[in-house]
Amino acid sequence: MKLENKQNDWSRQKLPGSATAQRKKLSHSSTLTAAQKVMQLQQSVGNRSVLKLMAGQMQRSRARTSSAAPIQCAKPGDAPPTIESQLEKRLNQMSKEAGIGEPLIVQYMTGLIDNEMVMSTLIDPQQNYPIDVIVKNAIKEQLKEDNSDYDCNTFKAMVANMALPDAARLNLIDQLVPEIDSIIDPFWHRAQRAIYTDPNFNSNPELLNMVQQTTPGGDQLNKAATDYLTNNPRPALMELPAEQRAEMIVALKEMPIVKSMLDGTLSQGGDAQGVHLLNGFDQLPGASITFELINRVQQALSRLASMVDRDKLPPTGRVPNIQVNPDEVVDLPQTFMEKLRGIRRQQITPFRANANRDDNRVRLSALDDIATIVHEFGHQIEFFLPVEEWLDIQELLRMRHQGNQLISIYPHNPKLQDEAAFNAQMPATGLYSAKVYDDGSTEVMSRTLEFFAEPETALRMIERDPLQAAIILRMIKPNEFRQTVPDPLRALLPRGDV
Ligand SMILES: [Zn+2]
Repeated sequence: MKLENKQNDWSRQKLPGSATAQRKKLSHSSTLTAAQKVMQLQQSVGNRSVLKLMAGQMQRSRARTSSAAPIQCAKPGDAPPTIESQLEKRLNQMSKEAGIGEPLIVQYMTGLIDNEMVMSTLIDPQQNYPIDVIVKNAIKEQLKEDNSDYDCNTFKAMVANMALPDAARLNLIDQLVPEIDSIIDPFWHRAQRAIYTDPNFNSNPELLNMVQQTTPGGDQLNKAATDYLTNNPRPALMELPAEQRAEMIVALKEMPIVKSMLDGTLSQGGDAQGVHLLNGFDQLPGASITFELINRVQQALSRLASMVDRDKLPPTGRVPNIQVNPDEVVDLPQTFMEKLRGIRRQQITPFRANANRDDNRVRLSALDDIATIVHEFGHQIEFFLPVEEWLDIQELLRMRHQGNQLISIYPHNPKLQDEAAFNAQMPATGLYSAKVYDDGSTEVMSRTLEFFAEPETALRMIERDPLQAAIILRMIKPNEFRQTVPDPLRALLPRGDV
């Protein structure tokens, strides 16, 4: 059920002590100028190594300030991530999927820098060059290496080996970061602009349009996100008033697709139904693909194919591969009598299913039921929603959120207590469906489709939370929704009757 948050985990590795803390402790060392410190560094580790060191820091700085800032998982007690930051991360994900992610921007930027940045070719350690010259050399050096994986291990190892007090190193780094940013940011923004607004590069019309609507200068994804939200204000969403709530339940039950959900006939429609949702079936060592699992996958895909209009399913080329993972099997202790009789008992902890956007993969346990398989494909459907529909889901969660803090989904489970959710009442699908991912992915589509997959839970979904059910039904079956649900009710959804 978990949506995997793949992230660059270097961001969690810190140099010993925070830079600020170190600075407070040993502020006397800041009497050296930045250039003097660079000279110190050059003498201690050699010239080219200093370039690499600074280049490594540049990458760190680049990653932090660009739209590809690594995902910091929101924790219980944190304020909810802003909608701007979540939209920016979603746009960044869209750019990756359009093949115009960070590596291409770096490549384009390298060209700009090569053409425009004049610098000395080698730094003479005996000569006190201004810091910007040194930094520019470092930048160019790094870009030549084409090392865009943001792996700072070389950098960290070098810092660890330098014969300098910690404070001097950290101070130096602190001073270099803004230098690096001020030099490289304008190149970065121009490269973003050039690539995101060029249809020859950018095959995603939504992203293309959003960046074209914003002005050059500054981080283009950040600005596109902010501008979009400013220029597309929404009427406030509210819970359905009692009368309309009752009417909505009746109206939804009139939808043909809801009727099939409730009478258990979703998967009728022949063997071929849902076959377009199958893109390979991989078995990891220790896992077994059973006949029962294949049956359940087939059921799940055919129910999905009924529920979701074809153009709302993952686009061609993005249909996920299914990976079957081994479950954890543990032998339980035997009693004397069990030993005597040769009885062995095992405890099986099923693999926790997840969906991964970057790998285009749904990972399952062979024990997963139909609803869970539908759930994981639900994530894939949410990944590819148009921005305005993804915002409908965000709006529901944010309208229901109380207070200023995220809360723990599993406060009593030490292993899972850091999983955070909006503090929101989700009358049908529960707190888990209010889970927060920093990139704006949610559990709303997945949980709702999971409930729709079986008659009993589908009924609960419609009757306990007709608003959430209606929001999702409008996304997955838009024509049927418009034809069946009367317009005064449709007007109560996010963005009104659209
Ligand atoms: Zn999930």
